[in-house]
Amino acid sequence: MLRSALLKLSETKSLAHWVTSNRTTREMSHRFVAGETLHEAIEACRVCNDQGMAVTLDCLGENVATTADAQKARDTYLEIYDRIAKEKLIANVSCKLTQLGLDISPDFCEGLVSSVVERAAAYESFLRVDMESSMYTQRTVALVKRVRAQSPCVGTVIQAYLYRSEIDIQDLLAYGCRIRLCKGAYKEPQEVAFARKAEVDANYVKLMRLLLTSGFYHAIATHDPRMIAETIRCAAQNNISKDDFEFQMLYGIRTDLQRRLVRDGYRLRIYVPYGHEWFPYFMRRLAERPANLGFFVRNFFRS
Ligand SMILES: Cc1cc2nc3c(=O)[nH]c(=O)nc-3n(C[C@H](O)[C@H](O)[C@H](O)COP(=O)(O)OP(=O)(O)OC[C@H]3O[C@@H](n4cnc5c(N)ncnc54)[C@H](O)[C@@H]3O)c2cc1C
Repeated sequence: MLRSALLKLSETKSLAHWVTSNRTTREMSHRFVAGETLHEAIEACRVCNDQGMAVTLDCLGENVATTADAQKARDTYLEIYDRIAKEKLIANVSCKLTQLGLDISPDFCEGLVSSVVERAAAYESFLRVDMESSMYTQRTVALVKRVRAQSPCVGTVIQAYLYRSEIDIQDLLAYGCRIRLCKGAYKEPQEVAFARKAEVDANYVKLMRLLLTSGFYHAIATHDPRMIAETIRCAAQNNISKDDFEFQMLYGIRTDLQRRLVRDGYRLRIYVPYGHEWFPYFMRRLAERPANLGFFVRNFFRS
């Protein structure tokens, strides 16, 4: 219930305004968000690289309402690729389609995504299109397939909690698409998604095996030690090298596990989010682990 309430609150614009303009909550957001500026994100990226971890940079934002805001987001992503190259960082980029105008027009959004992928290709880099709530799944898969037909430098995300995900994986693999597998972070109805953790985990393992044995380079995104152990076991059973896939984790979460994977010689990429629009992302992180909420409430009243 708490998870549902936090996910519902993540969509509340008035609360977002209050939380993101309050000094204390802004400071607390640094637990999950690298900062509000690209400069801060680049510094976080450098620290990760120095520790043997690659990065994917995300300028936070979603559900923009105007073409001008979507174009501004596109320009920011172009700038991020330029900065990554200039600073010689081991990093690529993740973005959300509703930040690039998917709610306004799929064609307009596709034009912006194509220009970002073109810039990624110019630097031999990569654009990962994050997956948002299930009302966008069909449009996201369709758009990524169209852009992937033009360039190999784009991939997307599949959420293990959705019933449809196995079919989406088969569909995307037919296009040679690289996939990040995650459990799924949104509030979804039982008609489209598994509700119980055990069911989500079982589907995660099934989809992970499908990806690992597909012959393409995919990303296994989780902080769950059981999912990680299953992945390592599957790779060993199928003679899949440590260089043929990567683990991914979120900035600030399970840094102990992050260090252990690097020490054991696995490829690890950290998702580093930054920007002013951090409220929905922050609330999803609280929802994933309600114990986080107690921690933040205690710190808020202490400060
Ligand atoms: C790199 C990356 C990219 C992602 N991209 C997307 C995306 O595009 N779309 C999408 O819907 N979701 C995305 N997610 C989020 C994902 O769907 C899950 O909500 C999130 O990763 C938690 O699931 P878990 O696999 O870590 O397992 P869980 O079973 O939720 O957690 C396992 C353990 O990890 C730790 N943990 C997990 N979350 C937290 C937290 N917030 N704070 C503290 N500890 C925590 C706890 O120790 C917990 O016991 C992404 C996740 C990662 C790692």
